[in-house]
Amino acid sequence: MSNVAGGRHRVILPAIVRLAIVGAICAGSGWLFGARVGLWLAVAGLGALYLGQLVYLAALGNWLERPSLSTIPNGIGAWGEVFARLYRQQRASEIAQQRLIDNEERFRRTISALPDGIILIDASLQIEWCNPVAERHLGVSLKRDLGLRLTNLVRDPAFVAYITAGRYEQPLLFTPLSLPGATLSLAVVEFEPARSMVLTRDITQSERVDAMRRDFVGNVSHELRTPLTVIKGFLESIIDGGSDLDSTRLHHLHLMHEQADRMHRLVEDLLTLSRLESQQGPDVEEEVDAAQLVSQVADEARTLSAGRHRISVEAQKLKIRGARDELRSAYGNLVSNAVRYTPVGGHITLRCVEQDGGIALQVQDTGIGVAAEHIPRLTERFYRVDKSRSRETGGTGLGLAIVKHVLIRHQARLDVQSDIGKGSLFSAWFPPARRIPTAGEREAA
Ligand code: ADP
Repeated sequence: MSNVAGGRHRVILPAIVRLAIVGAICAGSGWLFGARVGLWLAVAGLGALYLGQLVYLAALGNWLERPSLSTIPNGIGAWGEVFARLYRQQRASEIAQQRLIDNEERFRRTISALPDGIILIDASLQIEWCNPVAERHLGVSLKRDLGLRLTNLVRDPAFVAYITAGRYEQPLLFTPLSLPGATLSLAVVEFEPARSMVLTRDITQSERVDAMRRDFVGNVSHELRTPLTVIKGFLESIIDGGSDLDSTRLHHLHLMHEQADRMHRLVEDLLTLSRLESQQGPDVEEEVDAAQLVSQVADEARTLSAGRHRISVEAQKLKIRGARDELRSAYGNLVSNAVRYTPVGGHITLRCVEQDGGIALQVQDTGIGVAAEHIPRLTERFYRVDKSRSRETGGTGLGLAIVKHVLIRHQARLDVQSDIGKGSLFSAWFPPARRIPTAGEREAA
C-alpha cells in the first residue's frame, strides 16, 4: 500500500512543483513588470507545459502501438517515472513470456523425444499437433497436414473404422499402409471434451514374439490332435467290447477315456484360440439372424442341462453382421457356462435385445455367481474361480478367453454383472455398426 502511495507521490509531486515554479515566476514578473506581463508569462508557461505533455503523450501513443523494451521513450519528472514503470512492467512481462515459451519448447522437445507417436486432434478429427514419431508411423507431416482431417490422411479401413466408431476401450492393432511389415498399437485418449490424443506404438517386435508363441501352441495342439483321436478311438472300442474285462480294469479304462476326452477338448479350444488370435477380423461377414442363433443355442443348452434347469428365451428380431460360427461358438460358451455353474432347479434366460443402438446377446442365470474381484480376470486363459468345479463340469478354462477374442474381432465387448449365490448376467454387446437395420428401418431411412 505504502509503495503504491509513494509511487503516486513520485508521479504527482514533480508536476505540482513545476506548476508552482511557473506560478511563482509569473507572480514575480507581474509584481515587477505589471499584471499584463505576468498574465502573458502565465499563458506562455502553461502553453509550454501543455505542449510538453502533448509531446510525451504522442511518444507514449507511438510506443503503445509496438511495445518493446528497447524503444521505451525517456522523460523527465512525472513522465520519467511513468516510463520507468512501463519499463519495469514490460521487462517482467517479457521475462514471463520467455519463460512460457521456454517451458512449451521444453515440453515439445520432451514429447518429441518419446518413442511413441502422439497426435493431438480436435472434435472433427483435425490435426492440431503431432510429434516426429507419429509422422513416421502414420505417414503424416505437421507442416503439410496441420488442420487437416486425420481420417483423410490415414485411409486404412481398420484405422478409419476404429477412429470414427469412438469406442476406445481396446487398442487397435494394425499395419499402416505407410509402414508395410510393421504392426502398430493405436490408442485414443480423450483428455478434453473436444480434444483427443492419438497414441501410436510400434509393437512389431513383440508381435513377432507373440506370433511365435501362438504358432508354437497352435502347432503343438495340431500335432497332439491325431494321436489323441487314435487313443480315444481305441479306448472306446476296448470299452465297447470289454464285457470280459473285470470291473477295476473297466473303471480304469473309463477314467483314461474321460481324461483323453478332456485333453481332446483342451486341444480343440487351444486350436480355436490360436486361429482367432492369428487374424484381426472375422473370417466372413454374413447376416446372422440373432433370434435364430439364440434359439439354436437354447436347444443345445437344453440337451446339456438334461432337464435340470428351466431354460427360457426372450429374443427380438435382430440381425448382426459377423461370422455365424464364431458368434455361435462365443454365445454357446456363455450359455454352457450358465448351465454348468447353475445348481439343479435354477433358471437360465437367453436374450437378444436392442441396446444403445447395437445388439446385446445375453445370458442370465440364477447360479453360483462370481465375486467382484474375479470378474476382470475371467477372460484370461485358464483363469477359474473354482478349479475343481470347472474340471468336474468338463471345463477347459478357455471358454471365456475364446468369447473375448471373438468379441474383439467383432468390435464388441463383454459386460458381466454377478452376485455370489444369486446368479450372473453375461452380456455380449455389439456396436450399432454391427447391427443390420430391419426392413422397416431401411424404409424409414
Ligand atoms: P471354464 O472352462 O473353467 O468354465 P471359462 O473361461 O468358460 O472356463 O470360465 C472361466 C471361469 O469363470 C470359470 O471357471 C468360472 O469360475 C467362472 N464363470 C464363468 N461363467 C460363469 C457363470 N455363469 N457363473 C459363475 N461362474 C462363471
